[in-house]
Amino acid sequence: MNYRRDFLKKSALLAFTTLGTSLIGKDKINTVEELLLKTGDGGKYTLPALPYAYDALEPFIDKQTMEIHHTKHHQSYVDKLNAELEKADPKILQAPYSFENIFKVASKVQPALRNNAGGHYNHSLFWQLLKPNPESKVNVPGGKLGEAINKDFKSFDEFKKEFSEKAVKIFGSGWCWLIEQNGKLKITTTPNQDNPVMDLEIEKGKIIMGLDVWEHAYYLKYQNKRADYISNWWNVANWEKATELFNNK
Ligand code: MN
Repeated sequence: MNYRRDFLKKSALLAFTTLGTSLIGKDKINTVEELLLKTGDGGKYTLPALPYAYDALEPFIDKQTMEIHHTKHHQSYVDKLNAELEKADPKILQAPYSFENIFKVASKVQPALRNNAGGHYNHSLFWQLLKPNPESKVNVPGGKLGEAINKDFKSFDEFKKEFSEKAVKIFGSGWCWLIEQNGKLKITTTPNQDNPVMDLEIEKGKIIMGLDVWEHAYYLKYQNKRADYISNWWNVANWEKATELFNNK
């Protein structure tokens, strides 16, 4: 009896701890390295749960956008990735089909495989890099990441300006990233669902922060006003998570 109570207590505590620290439920991922090595359950990738409710990012990102973005767009990347992996050319890509292995040959695989693998990976990371801010508190990175931003961009305001400008200017659909490259922080952009860890002729580096600027990420609330979406996004950027990614050498 005591044993059972103890067990229940421990399970509840564990569940609570997991809920508090993990960002995507049972697909707990602490580092980009862990995410890169992920291969899916039984070889099939699944849609990770969001670490917050669909309406938690209001008023900056609305509930309907979050729900459609997660259950429709992200789900579609997951489904299509699984379908593409079934017909992957074994001469180019061999199991295990981790993101890391797929991204190593991103330039050689079928475009649909590259796009959907990128779509699943980028969104899995993106959900973690967002955080509710219901009281609209000032949201800036501190600690070592804050110091590094001040060193490499002069100030957070300068960084914010440059990042926003680059994100606004992406032609069509894509992502804006803060990466670390040879010990230096850089802002870079990629088209479509490409990312800085793919084997492509782009700026490569460790992802610290990422912003989805596809229209599906903002159109319902902001229509064509991408700049407004971006200026509001700063309120819900998860700098704690970004700092974790940065500190994970
Ligand atoms: Mn998206």
